[in-house]
Amino acid sequence: MIVFDLRCARHHVFEAWFGSSVAYEEQNAAGLVVCPICGNAEIEKAVMAPNVGAKGNQGPAVPAEALKAAISALAAAQSKALENSTWVGTAFADTARSMHLGEAPVMPIHGQATADEAKALVDEGVPVAPLPLPVVPPETCN
Ligand SMILES: [Zn+2]
Repeated sequence: MIVFDLRCARHHVFEAWFGSSVAYEEQNAAGLVVCPICGNAEIEKAVMAPNVGAKGNQGPAVPAEALKAAISALAAAQSKALENSTWVGTAFADTARSMHLGEAPVMPIHGQATADEAKALVDEGVPVAPLPLPVVPPETCN
């Protein structure tokens, strides 16, 4: 499925789902695509614009299903990336710093850091990166 922003001859802009780009072209050529606001059948693709402000309270432009799929793909990628990584919890900043300074054996770790701690690490040149998704600390899994 593919979603298009469409616009009728009276400048109403609306979203419509089609099986494919070709399906849209065929249905539009056959006059099957009509404006839900005024019924006008002179439809063309609207220029895509960032979803900022103008659409008001219509909700997110990304369908919930697509968002869910994207998040679970991200979650899968993240847990794979963390497979060989050790959870160090709130000791993350200290551990990362020790490894960076050669005071501790270097290994993949992940854990919690405050915004200030994370900023300090970055300032010190310690290679850290935020995870895209929150991680449930292992000790709370039980
Ligand atoms: Zn219209």
